[in-house]
Amino acid sequence: MEIQMKMPVAKVAAGKVHCPMCTHSVTGNVEYTPRYMKVVPGQKCERCGASLDVAVVLYLRNAA
Ligand SMILES: [Zn+2]
Repeated sequence: MEIQMKMPVAKVAAGKVHCPMCTHSVTGNVEYTPRYMKVVPGQKCERCGASLDVAVVLYLRNAA
């Protein structure tokens, strides 16, 4: 019997995220797969220091 692992491999790249606290676009690490993008947890906004866990990804700097 063969078990197939279909785990999407998440990659991390620098991108722009929208900080909801100071409403500025700041640089952050973005984790992405072909299916989704999300902010890597545990980062802080470089402007206001708020957690970026709830920030919205605007774009990836190295979008393929
Ligand atoms: Zn901020």
